[in-house]
Amino acid sequence: MIELTRLTAVGGGVSEDEGLLAWQDQALCAQTDPEAFFPEKGGSTREAKRICVGCEVKQDCLEYALMQDERFGIWGGLSERERRRLKRKAS
Ligand code: SF4
Repeated sequence: MIELTRLTAVGGGVSEDEGLLAWQDQALCAQTDPEAFFPEKGGSTREAKRICVGCEVKQDCLEYALMQDERFGIWGGLSERERRRLKRKAS
């Protein structure tokens, strides 16, 4: 499940990150194929990004990924490279 993958990915327990991760209850990706959000190198991100467009917690997800410096996967509709670019622009 994507939710478990993401909770594991941050390396913290659910209780530790409960507040930070509250938005995940509404994550649209939790109802879809998790592999679409963690494509192999060079794989398509189109399907994941399409799902993110309609996700209510897109902004929270993106902010979380930026804050946690998530290295892998699609978060808030952006790939790792796109998040890096965004961070560079913001600094
Ligand atoms: S924005 Fe995308 S990756 Fe983030 S919770 Fe929503 S569907 Fe999942």
